[in-house]
Amino acid sequence: MAAPRDGLATVEAEGIAGRQASSGVEAVFPSDPATPAPLCPHGPTLLFVKVNQGKEETRRFYACSACRDRKDCNFFQWEDEKLSGARLAAREAHNRKCQPPLSRTQCVERYLKFIALSLSQRKFCQQCQQLLLPDDWEKHQEHRVVGDISITQLKRPSQLLYPLENKKTNAQYLFADRSCQFLVDLLSTLGFTRVLCVGTPRLHELIRLKASGEKKSNIKSLLLDIDFRYSQFYMEDSFCHYNMFNHHFFDGKAALEVCRTFLQEDKGEGVIMVTDPPFGGLVEPLAVTFKKLIAMWKEGQSQDSSHKELPIFWIFPYFFESRIRQFFPSFCMLDYQVDYDNHALYKHGKTGRKQSPVRIFTNIPPNKIILPSEEGYRFCPLCQRYVSLENQHCEHCNSCTSKDGRKWNHCFLCKKCVKPSWIHCSICSHCALPDHSCGGPKDGCFICGELDHKRSTCPKIAASKKVNNTLFFRAVRKQKQRKSNKMKMGTTKGQSMNHTSVTRKKNRRERAHQYLCS
Ligand code: SAH
Ligand code: ZN
Ligand code: ZN
Ligand code: ZN
Ligand code: ZN
Repeated sequence: MAAPRDGLATVEAEGIAGRQASSGVEAVFPSDPATPAPLCPHGPTLLFVKVNQGKEETRRFYACSACRDRKDCNFFQWEDEKLSGARLAAREAHNRKCQPPLSRTQCVERYLKFIALSLSQRKFCQQCQQLLLPDDWEKHQEHRVVGDISITQLKRPSQLLYPLENKKTNAQYLFADRSCQFLVDLLSTLGFTRVLCVGTPRLHELIRLKASGEKKSNIKSLLLDIDFRYSQFYMEDSFCHYNMFNHHFFDGKAALEVCRTFLQEDKGEGVIMVTDPPFGGLVEPLAVTFKKLIAMWKEGQSQDSSHKELPIFWIFPYFFESRIRQFFPSFCMLDYQVDYDNHALYKHGKTGRKQSPVRIFTNIPPNKIILPSEEGYRFCPLCQRYVSLENQHCEHCNSCTSKDGRKWNHCFLCKKCVKPSWIHCSICSHCALPDHSCGGPKDGCFICGELDHKRSTCPKIAASKKVNNTLFFRAVRKQKQRKSNKMKMGTTKGQSMNHTSVTRKKNRRERAHQYLCS
């Protein structure tokens, strides 16, 4: 059966590119608690519907919330499909089989044994991404094993483990040092004492490093992440195996309570949630989850502070601004550009493009958030916020209008500031790229814009798929392509990740996937 999973995130991505979703899959949410969603190995599935322009709503179906690639989780069920007892039992067995080989408690026991070993006995299998106890050595004899794992290394698991870059599931992009340091300093300046890290393993570890360092910072951190490998390095109270697309705790009630206690400590005072979800993910399920975490925090509030909001940093690309504000109207977008280590495009310096499109969305008043002047940020007294160097205050809009770090120009006909590459088109009566096709969005291919085929059969996709398959990249690429119309499809990942060959990464990805899903 060909399940309509293809392009689960296209709706968001097409939104980025400024087109109407003419055909794609949209998520819908069962508001009826009487019909709970069926479970896949990653917790409750989400209900999706494929929408086709000009057609009535087609059949709805359940699919995995976390894996946007069928290779990672192939769960599929029509909403109205009735399963036999035998098939239900088989599914349950499959879900059980897919759970991590060790329980959370077993992981903690192993960790305690591991740190008690002498340095020469502390080994790590790079192939299995696992800390080894002496009893395991034999099994990993033929593997790439590194020894002498120091306590310092144990405190930096995001450097010991390789990033899981399979774009459609983990999309693990680690903060560059500069950005991570900036975040930790900011959290401490703002006076937070607890940080709920949702999908931010590197931030989590830096907070803990600082807390155990000389100048004790005394900030506590709890990491919620779907990457089970991290459970080897943390005790129960600092890591929960978690799915942020459906608020699912893989270790059940005990883990949920860890999270609740953390949020509600000190009557909920001093806590902030920081999240950096995979960019290909749908905004709506994330918003639903974050609202559940907010509700959990609120339960612990005293009556008189019921108007307060849980402080949040949601790290996401700037072109999701309107989407995020739909769910969180009080959020504003900071001008700070978040940089990544292992990202071809969003790495500061020679290999990456200079301007990262990733920003911080927050409900903290922006005038409280001082951006580093060494990096060119300055305070705009009129806007009461820090802005990037080239973001100039427009006297007509009465605001610093640039979103992407470049200087935008005011168009008097549109009565707003627009990207520097745009010109006013008298046919469309709004600003657009010089080479746009007049008449607005057409029902053509999402990749190249041609009208005679769809994204799935685009001749250009074959080339781009090999190297870079996220919708997010496609959307960014498409923007670029529109701009110059000369751009080649795809950026070779190998260029920026020169220390790893593409094949090796592919193998790693597959292994990582086996590890996570078997
Ligand atoms: N910049 C962050 C990492 C962000 S990458 C840092 O350096 O700390 C996205 C993170 O979200 C990864 O750690 C990935 O494992 C996690 N993740 C991906 N899908 C997830 C899901 N469904 N639920 C929870 N975490 C997820
Ligand atoms: Zn799944
Ligand atoms: Zn303006
Ligand atoms: Zn204009
Ligand atoms: Zn036009």
